[in-house]
Amino acid sequence: MKIMPFSDNVIFFDTEFSTLNPYEGEILSVGLVKMGGQELYLELEYEGAVSDWVKENILPTLTAEKVSRTEAVRLIKEFVGDSRPYAVSYVNQFDTIYVYKPFSIDDHPFFWIPIDFASFLFMAGIDPTTHLYGEKTGFFSKLGIDSKKYHQHHALDDARILREAYLKFLNQPT
Ligand SMILES: [Mg+2]
Repeated sequence: MKIMPFSDNVIFFDTEFSTLNPYEGEILSVGLVKMGGQELYLELEYEGAVSDWVKENILPTLTAEKVSRTEAVRLIKEFVGDSRPYAVSYVNQFDTIYVYKPFSIDDHPFFWIPIDFASFLFMAGIDPTTHLYGEKTGFFSKLGIDSKKYHQHHALDDARILREAYLKFLNQPT
């Protein structure tokens, strides 16, 4: 079966968040990139606990001015617009939870079913866990992407490389 997306109305995103435990976790940052390359990056106000890994790897990278959750919701809605795009992410189960959480039920601007990029890789026979930037045998290299120009675990760069990977996967110009 030929791989052809059902819709071009997609938006790429990534989040960083306080813990992998979704009962406790909160979003810390989000990067959103449209098909045409337009971008939004936000870091959110948060005073609560974070996991040790997040303390070491994420907090030092969060250097932008922080916005409230209310402001983040407003800015995300404004950026995404009214077209209800399919939200594509890579570690889909966490990114989806954390980007939807600040919104009231059914008030987020995305189509209600998110799209999981790892499943694309899986169905193409590519190991979806080989995601480290700069990894010679990883899927970014397999897709012909120079991942060294991106900073891994920065939500905007992670969303940017996801867009590039999606387009390369479909043999479309980036
Ligand atoms: Mg990330």
